[in-house]
Amino acid sequence: MQEFKTESKRILDLMINSIYTHKEIFLREIISNASDAIDKLCYKSLTDERVGMSRSDFKIEVDVDKDNRTVTVRDNGIGMTREELEENLGTIAQSGSLKFKSEMSKDDKENNDIDIIGQFGVGFYSAFMVADNVTVNTKAFGSDTAYKWTSCGVEGYEIEETEKTDVGTEIIMHIKDNDGEENYDEFVEPYRIRAIIRKYSDYVRYPIVMNEEKTEKAEDGTETKTVEEVTVNSMVPIWQRSKSEASDEDCAAFYKETFYDCNEPFKVIRINAEGTLSYKALLFIPGKAPMNYYTKDYQKGLTLYTSSVMIMENCEELLPEHFRFVKGVVDSDNLSLNISREMLQHDRQLRQISSAIEKRIKSELKKMLTNERDKYEQFYKEFGLQLKYGMVSDYGMHKDMLEDLIMFHASGSEKPVTLEEYVSAMPEGQEFIYYARGESIQKIDNLPQAETVKDHGYSILYMTDEVDEFVINMLGAFKEKKFKSINDPDLGLETDEEKAEKEKAAEENREMLDFVKESLDGAVESVKLSHKLKSYPVCLSAEGEVTLEMEKYFQSIPGEDEKIKAKRVLELNGDHHAFDALKAAYETDKEKARKLAKILYTEALMIADMPVENAPEFAQLVSELM
Ligand code: ADP
Repeated sequence: MQEFKTESKRILDLMINSIYTHKEIFLREIISNASDAIDKLCYKSLTDERVGMSRSDFKIEVDVDKDNRTVTVRDNGIGMTREELEENLGTIAQSGSLKFKSEMSKDDKENNDIDIIGQFGVGFYSAFMVADNVTVNTKAFGSDTAYKWTSCGVEGYEIEETEKTDVGTEIIMHIKDNDGEENYDEFVEPYRIRAIIRKYSDYVRYPIVMNEEKTEKAEDGTETKTVEEVTVNSMVPIWQRSKSEASDEDCAAFYKETFYDCNEPFKVIRINAEGTLSYKALLFIPGKAPMNYYTKDYQKGLTLYTSSVMIMENCEELLPEHFRFVKGVVDSDNLSLNISREMLQHDRQLRQISSAIEKRIKSELKKMLTNERDKYEQFYKEFGLQLKYGMVSDYGMHKDMLEDLIMFHASGSEKPVTLEEYVSAMPEGQEFIYYARGESIQKIDNLPQAETVKDHGYSILYMTDEVDEFVINMLGAFKEKKFKSINDPDLGLETDEEKAEKEKAAEENREMLDFVKESLDGAVESVKLSHKLKSYPVCLSAEGEVTLEMEKYFQSIPGEDEKIKAKRVLELNGDHHAFDALKAAYETDKEKARKLAKILYTEALMIADMPVENAPEFAQLVSELM
C-alpha cells in the first residue's frame, strides 16, 4: 500500500466530507477526464496509423450495476502507464483545479475549499464523495501491460498488473452504503445517472452511452427483455450552439469549469463566421486577472478545435499579446487536422481568424465602455495595465487599436477618463493635454506646477503607472492635441505679453541666474526665472526628451552603470520672498548666496520627489543660516 501525499490527503478528506448537494458532480469530473483522454488519442490518430481508429469509434460507456452497487465509466482514450498512474492519481497536486487553487489568495483559500468542490470538483478524487472503493483499470496506447489501481480513500492506494485487452481506462466506483444522514442509493439508479449526465456532460463531444433494458410484450403476453445501447448526451459542443440553445449563463458556467475560474466572466463573446473561412469562437473576458497574470507563468492562448477535434490548448497565435487575458475556444472546419505548432505560425487562415478575433474583442470592449461604464471600469482595474503595455509594445504598432480603450485618473473628476473624454472637455483656449507622472495622485497634486495648471482651469491626467509615461511618449498626441508634462519648463500657459515680461526679468537677472547655475556645479542644465509658481519658491523641470519621471524609472531598474538622466532645469519663483533673499545675498555676500542656491536646489529636488544627493550638507546649510 502506498500513501497519498499530504496535500492529497487533505483534499480527500475534504471531498469525503463535502456537502451533499455537490456530490453528483463526481460523474462530470470522471467523464470529463475520459473525454480528455479520448481527445489525446483522437488527436494522435490523425498522425499515427498505429492507433487504427477514427473519430466515430471513440465513446464513453457508463454502466450502472444496482446489485453490486457500482458505477463504471469506460473510455477508449489514451490510457495511462504505470508511471502516469502513480503521477496522476497518487498525488492530487497534478489536478488543474488544484493549480487554480494555489493561485488564489490566502483569504480566499480559507473559506472557499468547499465551494471549489461545488464549482469545479477536484477532478478524479471527487469519486470518493460517493464511492468507498475506486478501481482504475488502464492500458496506455503503445503499451503491452495493463495496470489496476485501487483505493478505499484516505489510507492510500495500490497498483498491480492486470489483464485488459483494449487501450483505454475503466473506472469502477463502488457506491457507499447509506448512512444515518446521507442517502447514496440514488447513484445506482440508471435514470438518475442519466439525468446527471444530461445536466453536466451534455456537450461532451463523444457519445456517452448507457445500456437500457427494454421489455417488449408480445401479443400472447410473453415478455422479452432486450438491452439497447443509447447515447445519452447531445454531443453538440457549447460553442456550436446558438444563443437560444446556450444562454450566456450556460456559457459562463462552461467557462468557469473549463478554465478553473470561480468568478463570472465580464463578457461572453460569440463569433459565428461563415463564408470562405468559416469558424466558431466562444470567448470570455475573465472577471478577474489570475494571480499569475502579470508573470511569465501565465499561459496565453485559446483552445483550438478542428471539426470538433481538439488540436491544441493555449494556441498563442490566435490572440494578440495585448488581449492575452481573453480565454476561450475556436473551432474551424477549414484548418488542416495534422497541423503542427510550427506550421500554425505561418498559417494564413489562422492569421485571418486571429485578426478577426482581435477586432471583435476591441469592438466588444468599446461597447462595454460606452454602454456599461461601471463594468468597463472594473474590467480596466483588472486588465488596464495590459492595454497600456500593448500600446508601447512592438514600437507602438497597436496604438491605434488601443488608444481609445485606455483611461487615466484626472484632476476634477472622480472617475477615470478616456483620452477622448479629456479632449472633448477641454475648455476653449487649452492647447495641450496636461499630464503628470508620479507615484500617487497625492504626490502629483503636491507639485507646484500642478497648482498652476489647475488654476488655469485645466485638468491634469494623473499617470500613476510606470508604463504611463511611455504610453504618452508613444502617442505624442491625441486628436491633434499634444501631450504636455506639467514638468515641462514651458507649459504654454503664458500670453505673449507675459512671455516678454519674463524675458525682460530674466535678462535683468541673467548674471545672478548664471551664478546660481555655476554654484550648483553642473547639477542643472539651466536656471530660469518663473512666474508660474504660486506658493512655492522653486520647482524642478526638465528640458528635452527625458523627463524627470523617466529618469526615476531608469534609476530604479538594476544594471547599466551609465543611467539616462534628464536635463534638469531649476525654476525660481520671482515673486517669492526667498528669491528676494537670494538676490540680496547675491549683491552683498556671494558666499551666502551660494549656500542659498544649494538650499533652494535641494528643496526643488524634494518637492519633485527626486533623491536628495547630499542630505547632510543640506541639513548643515539650513542650520547655519538659522
Ligand atoms: P485534472 O483532470 O484536473 O488534471 P484529475 O485529478 O481529474 O485532474 O486527473 C489527474 C490526471 O489523471 C489527469 O490530468 C489525467 O492525466 C489522468 N487521468 C484521469 N482520468 C483519466 C482517464 N480516464 N484516462 C487517462 N488519463 C486520466
